[in-house]
Amino acid sequence: MPQTKEQIFAQARAAKLWAGHLIGGHDAPGAVLDNTTPIDNSSIGSIEAGTAADVDRAVQVARASFESGEWSQRPPAERKRVMLAWADLMAAHAEELAALDCVDAGKPITECLNTDLPATLDTFRWYAEAIDKCYGRVAPTGPQALGLIVKEPIGVVGAVLPWNFPAQMYAWKVAPALAAGNSVIVKPAELTSLSAYRMTELAHEAGVPAAALQLVTGLGEEVGRAIGLHPDIDVVSFTGSTEVGRLFLRYSADSNLKEIVLECGGKSPQVIFDDADLDAAVDHVLAAAFWNMGENCSCGSRLIVQSGVKAALLQRLQARLADWKVGLPTDEAVQIGPLVEKAHFDKVHGFLQSAASEGLRLVHGGRVHADLGSGWYVEPTIFDEVHPGSRLFQEEVFGPILAITGFDTEAQAIALANDSQYGLAASLYTRDVFRAQRMARAIKAGTVSINGFSEGDITTPFGGYKQSGFGGRDNGLEALDQYQQTKTIWYVNE
Ligand code: NAD
Repeated sequence: MPQTKEQIFAQARAAKLWAGHLIGGHDAPGAVLDNTTPIDNSSIGSIEAGTAADVDRAVQVARASFESGEWSQRPPAERKRVMLAWADLMAAHAEELAALDCVDAGKPITECLNTDLPATLDTFRWYAEAIDKCYGRVAPTGPQALGLIVKEPIGVVGAVLPWNFPAQMYAWKVAPALAAGNSVIVKPAELTSLSAYRMTELAHEAGVPAAALQLVTGLGEEVGRAIGLHPDIDVVSFTGSTEVGRLFLRYSADSNLKEIVLECGGKSPQVIFDDADLDAAVDHVLAAAFWNMGENCSCGSRLIVQSGVKAALLQRLQARLADWKVGLPTDEAVQIGPLVEKAHFDKVHGFLQSAASEGLRLVHGGRVHADLGSGWYVEPTIFDEVHPGSRLFQEEVFGPILAITGFDTEAQAIALANDSQYGLAASLYTRDVFRAQRMARAIKAGTVSINGFSEGDITTPFGGYKQSGFGGRDNGLEALDQYQQTKTIWYVNE
C-alpha cells in the first residue's frame, strides 16, 4: 500500500525506516549503519553496511541474469511494457518516495513532490518509450556485402549515486541502463538510500527480474570502491564529486579497464548583460543559486554582471529573497532546508568564514540558523565584488552562497565565465540574439541556457566539459550510449 507523507514522517520519528541490499531479491540483513536525518540529526532508522563480498555476490547474480537473457534478450517492446508498469507503480507511491527523500536528504517536501518525483517518473517513461524506437544502421556497401551496425547492451552496469537528488539521480542512471537491456547494480549514497531501496522493490513488483536490477547499500570507500575495482563489471556510471570521480578512473585502470562515465562537480556562471530583462531574470537567477540549498551540480554560484545593472539586479534579488523561507523541510512553505550532514555544513560554513577573512563584501544573508533542528540551516547568502582569485569564485561550495563579480565588456564576461576548472552549465541573459549566440558558443560548458536557468529536460543530454565530466552524458538518447556497445555484422555476399 502506498504511504502518505505523514506516515513516512511518523516512521522517521520512530526510527523505523530501512534500506538494505536487494541482491537477487530480499535476503537476511547483515551489519547496519545508523541513518540520521539532517532535519534534526536524530536517527530515522538504519541502512545495511555493504561489503566487497556483497558486491561480488551481486555481480555474480547480475552476470548470470545477463547471460541467461531473462532481461537482456527480451524484445525492447516487452522491456518497455514492464518499465511503464514500474513507472505507474512509482506514480502511485510518489508521495511516499518524495517524503523519503525529504527526511533522508533534508530536501523541501514541496520540491520533492512537485519537481523531483515528476521528473523521475518522466525519465522512466521516456526511456521505456524510447527503447523500441531505436534502430540500427545499414552500412553503405555495394551488393558484395551487407554491413549491419547494431547496438547491444554492454553487460553488468554499476550505478554509483550522489545524495542531492536521490530519486532523480537513480532514474537518470537506471532508466536508460535497464531499458538498454543491461543488468544493473545500484549503489545509492550512504546518506540517502531510502528512495532507491523502495524504487528497486517496486521494480521487482512490476516485473523487472530481481537479478537484473539489484541494490547494494553502504559506504563509498567500501561498496563504491568494490564496484570500481570489480573485474566483472563492464561500466560504472558515476555521479558525485570530481575528487571521487578521479578515483573511479584509477579503479578502472587497476582492474579490468571498465568503461567509466563521470558526472561531477560544477561552478556554473550566470552572465547578465545590461540589456537583460532584469524583472524576468530575477527568479531564474535565484533558483539557479539557491534551489535545493545550492546542493545542485549545476548551481549558478557565480553571478557575472555588467557593471551598469549590478545595483539594480542586486536590489531585485534581495527583494525577492524575502519570500524564501528557511525552515524545516517537512513544512510545505519552506524553500531552504538543512544542509545534508554536519561535515557538509562545516564545509559550507568554512566558505562563509573564508569569505569574511578575504574581506569580500557581504550583501545578503550570511547567517546560520542554529536555532533550527540540527542547526545546519544556512540562509541564502550573497557576496559582492568577488574576484577570480577568491575561493568563492573557484571552488564548488554546494551550498546557498552566491558570488557576484562585475564586468564591462563581452570579452571580459567570456574570460570570467571560462575561468574555472569546471564546465557543467552556464546561463546568460541578454535581449541581443546575436550576442546570445556568440556567448553560447564561447562558454565552455555542457549546457548553456539563455534568458533562464535550465538543465534542459529529459530530451536533451546533460553533462560536463573540463573537470565536470567525462565519458558520456545523462539524459537524451545520448545517455543510451553509455550502456550500449556497437557491433558490426558483416555478411559476405560474393
Ligand atoms: P561523493 O563523490 O562524495 O559521493 C558520490 C558517490 O560516491 C556516493 O555513492 C559515495 O558513497 C561514493 N563514494 C564516496 N567515496 C568513494 C570512494 N572512495 N570510492 C568509491 N565510491 C565512493 O559526492 P556527493 O557528495 O554524494 O555529491 C555531491 C557531488 O556530486 C557534487 O560535487 C556535485 O556537483 C556532484 N553532482 C554532479 C551531478 C552531475 O550531473 N554532474 C549531479 C549531482 C551531483
